[in-house]
Amino acid sequence: MSETPAPKGKGTVFVRVEVCKGCSYCIDFCPAKCLAFSKEFNAKGYHYPVLAKPEACVGCDMCGLYCPDFAIFGIRVKDLEKAKTK
Ligand code: SF4
Ligand code: SF4
Repeated sequence: MSETPAPKGKGTVFVRVEVCKGCSYCIDFCPAKCLAFSKEFNAKGYHYPVLAKPEACVGCDMCGLYCPDFAIFGIRVKDLEKAKTK
């Protein structure tokens, strides 16, 4: 699972890199257009999404809703902070 180290926007994403099959749905359906494919490949040989414009992510989880493999999810930073304090 990879996360953008320090969220710069209202949201961030977590990616299960090795589960991703590079279909690009998450990138295509992100309303903020803040995802892009990695330069690297995962073990299956696919590029996976990375948060290319972290300041633009709002944590809406549209990426997660469209991912057929549950390989990505988005979360609002304030919800993430709440979850960490529990
Ligand atoms: S959480 Fe929303 S804004 Fe952030 S990458 Fe996913 S779809 Fe885009
Ligand atoms: S929608 Fe899911 S499987 Fe497709 S590229 Fe995005 S994270 Fe990978």
